[in-house]
Amino acid sequence: MQVILLDTGICRVPEFHVLRDGSRRMLDCHAVVALIEHPQRGWGLFDVGYSQAMISATQQLPWSLYRQATPLQLSPELEVVNQLPRYGLSAADIGWIVLSHAHADHVAALADFPQAQIYMSAVAFELLSQVQGINALRRGIIPSLFPQGWHQRLHLIYEFRDQPLFALGNTHDLFGDGLLKLVELPGHARGQIGMYIANSRPILLAADGAWHSRAIREQVLPHPIIYFMIDDAKAMATTLARLSAFAQAYPEVLIVPCHCPEIYASEVATA
Ligand SMILES: [Zn+2]
Ligand SMILES: [Zn+2]
Repeated sequence: MQVILLDTGICRVPEFHVLRDGSRRMLDCHAVVALIEHPQRGWGLFDVGYSQAMISATQQLPWSLYRQATPLQLSPELEVVNQLPRYGLSAADIGWIVLSHAHADHVAALADFPQAQIYMSAVAFELLSQVQGINALRRGIIPSLFPQGWHQRLHLIYEFRDQPLFALGNTHDLFGDGLLKLVELPGHARGQIGMYIANSRPILLAADGAWHSRAIREQVLPHPIIYFMIDDAKAMATTLARLSAFAQAYPEVLIVPCHCPEIYASEVATA
């Protein structure tokens, strides 16, 4: 399977927000998505990242608060849809999308893929359908980023009953062939999921289960200053401990925290 990691834009945050023992220097936290070619189901995406839709969706209050809280550096060239031609693809070639969670930085480009089938956890969707206005915003959700009629293409994942991943628990085998296994990564956001790709070089897409590879290596949590936007701090710590245990047991697996600067430097395809 071809798996290509793409950068979709930057959010700048102080290092100590991401790693509580970190410095005050600003980190470039890229929003990385995975472009995956499944042998039968064709091309798909794990998360869709930033797009210019993020700018228009955050023009007015209360949504402008999002951009004040997380200063963004976006450019049209980094939108996934504009990177696809480099691989001989267009939006119409993307047949499926897995959303790790509903946070704006992971879903902003959803409207660019009007034909894709969309997969997300039922738990994440339940929250998404319950919140609006300021209650959505404080959970990192901007409802207008979800295009009209997207429900008709939505496949909710209710059960994780397939073969477990060490320390991380049971999985949901996305297409029933053992190649793409979804796993629950609770804590950071309600119903967050990651994806294990059983490739020649195995990959675990960890979404925001951790924000930095060092967080996993050394079990360093984010600073409590950001806990206001965390769904469940205790579950977040448990998820981090499980990712650490998995990383120790399977050093050959590339673990990809979506926003990790180390992963960006070593693994992400640049134009
Ligand atoms: Zn998030
Ligand atoms: Zn994120």
